Formats: sequence, structure tokens, C-alpha cells
Amino acid sequence: MGLTKLTDYYRPKKLTEATRLLKENDGFFPIGGGTWLIPYGGSEVKGIVDLSESGIKEIRLEETSMYIGASTTLNDLLTAPETSSHPYEFIRETIISEGSTRLINSASTVGGRIALGRGDSSFLAGLIAVDATVILFGKMSEDVTLWDYLNNSELQNEKHIISGIEISTPTNIHSVIFESISYIPSSPPLISLALYLTFSVNLIDSVRIVLSSIGEKLIRLEEAEAMLLGKELDDKLIKSVSGLAVKIVDPAFDPKGSSEYKKAMAGVLIERVLNKIKDNRGGS
Ligand SMILES: Cc1cc2nc3c(=O)[nH]c(=O)nc-3n(C[C@H](O)[C@H](O)[C@H](O)COP(=O)(O)OP(=O)(O)OC[C@H]3O[C@@H](n4cnc5c(N)ncnc54)[C@H](O)[C@@H]3O)c2cc1C
Repeated sequence: MGLTKLTDYYRPKKLTEATRLLKENDGFFPIGGGTWLIPYGGSEVKGIVDLSESGIKEIRLEETSMYIGASTTLNDLLTAPETSSHPYEFIRETIISEGSTRLINSASTVGGRIALGRGDSSFLAGLIAVDATVILFGKMSEDVTLWDYLNNSELQNEKHIISGIEISTPTNIHSVIFESISYIPSSPPLISLALYLTFSVNLIDSVRIVLSSIGEKLIRLEEAEAMLLGKELDDKLIKSVSGLAVKIVDPAFDPKGSSEYKKAMAGVLIERVLNKIKDNRGGS
């Protein structure tokens, strides 16, 4: 396809300047690593606003949260000490599972990945599982969860610059549990699951279940979450939840794996992860 109508390129030092350029010029787009925009942007793209020097490349660990600036690359996250151990190791695990090359990961940014919101992103699935918040520049009072952002096309069409994401430090002993099924470990998953669950004494008091590689969008199994909420995690409940997942998941056509296979595997992954949690708690 290529950027056949590209005439302008800017690399502003400030986000206010980047925002002004994008607002005042039709056909101007922000660019992160360009791994998608350059090959697929097409003739719509008349100008590029490069965010690489706008001061949003940062990983900051705070007392109860982590901030990741939008120009941070996936490779920065793979090599950052902050993601090397509990409770943020799921960030590395989910990026690695996607099976992208080092070249792609060294250019791809967190902002670009969020803006695309692809259904095969294990990385985004993990972030949704911990209710990560998207920070939109110029909309400070209206930060939204990543899940709500990806499901709000009106907000996405407003074309705000994503300046970063914030993750509250996972408080359970497992952090996010991530499981996937691939032909070989280094290939992109046929299906994957990111699950985050907390207990209040013996009762489940919060849960997120996110599947990727099911279709164009990531899938959150809100019905299955509701089934778990407020209950004790036992074998019967685990079977019911995995059965429900098989019933409600509706995978799109994928030459790599049939819909029936992916439905069955959604149930298998959920059962596997919930059993792991139950066993670690010493439940029956
Ligand atoms: C071989 C290959 C494998 C890939 N595998 C995957 C994969 O497994 N999962 C996946 O999700 N993607 C994948 N991609 C797609 C893409 O490379 C990634 O999603 C990447 O993270 C996009 O980031 P980027 O910085 O390169 O985005 P860019 O190409 O720079 O931009 C992508 C889009 O996001 C917008 N954008 C960029 N930054 C911002 C910002 N800060 N605020 C608002 N909008 C912004 C751009 O205007 C553009 O519309 C793959 C691509 C290739 C070539």
C-alpha cells in the first residue's frame, strides 16, 4: 500500500504541539514505531506527527502502580528490570507469547499497540485483565480503562493522543495468570487467556477473564466473571465456568484452528488456570 500521499513530517518536542498539528491538519496521524502505519496507512496519510521525542517514553514504578509512557517500545518492556519479576512479569510473558520478531518489538510502541487494539494481542489482554487505565492527552479528567477505551469507538474517533497507561500493582499472589496454545512455543498463539482474580477470605471478590486470538477484537467473558464473583472456587464452579465459556465463545474463521477447536480450548484454558489458582490456595 505505502504512504503515497505523504507530504509532511513533524517531530514535536511537546505533546501540546503534537496535538495542535493533529487538530489543525486533516490527514495528519501520530506515529509510534510505524510498524503498522508505514505499510498500511495508505493514501489517507498526508502528514506524520512523530511522537518519539515528545517526552512520553518512560517506565515508572510508583508505590502502588506502574506508569508506561506511550512511546515505550515492546522491547523496552522486555528488557526493563521492572518487568523481570512478580507482579509485573506477566507483561514480558504476554509480549513474548505474541511471537513477534526482535525487529518489530524494538520499533512497536505501547501507544501504537493500544490504538490498533487488535484481537490477537496477548499483551493487551494482560493489561485488560488488571484494569489498566489509558491516559489520553488533554483529557486528563477522563482517563478510561483500556477495556472501555477499546470498546468506545466514539472516543477512539476523537483521535486523542494516547500518552501512556497506568497499572495498579496486582495484589494477589499470582498476579495475572497467562496461558496460551500455540503450534510451537515461538509461534503466535492459536488462542490465549489472561486471568486475574482476587479473594476476600474465601470468596472471589474481583475477576477478569480475557481471551485473545478469537476474532478481530479481544473478548472479555463478563458472564463467566459474574458466575465466579462472590463464590468459593471449587471443582463444580470451575466446570460450570469452563462449560459456559465453551458455550458463549464464538471464534471467527481462522485457517490456523477451527472454531470448534478454539471453543473447546477456551474451556480447557479456563479450567487449567482456575485449577492452578485453586491448587495454590490448597482448596478442595
Ligand atoms: C510482523 C508483524 C507482526 C505483528 N504482530 C502483532 C501482534 O502480534 N499483535 C498486535 O497487536 N500487533 C501486531 N502487529 C501490528 C503492529 O506492529 C503492532 O500493533 C505495533 O505495536 C503498533 O505499534 P507502532 O508503534 O508500530 O504503531 P504505528 O504503526 O506507529 O501506529 C499504529 C496506529 O496507532 C496510531 N498511534 C500510534 N501511536 C499513538 C499514540 N500515542 N496515540 C494515539 N494513536 C497512536 C497511529 O496513528 C496508527 O493509526 C504486527 C506487525 C507486524 C509487521
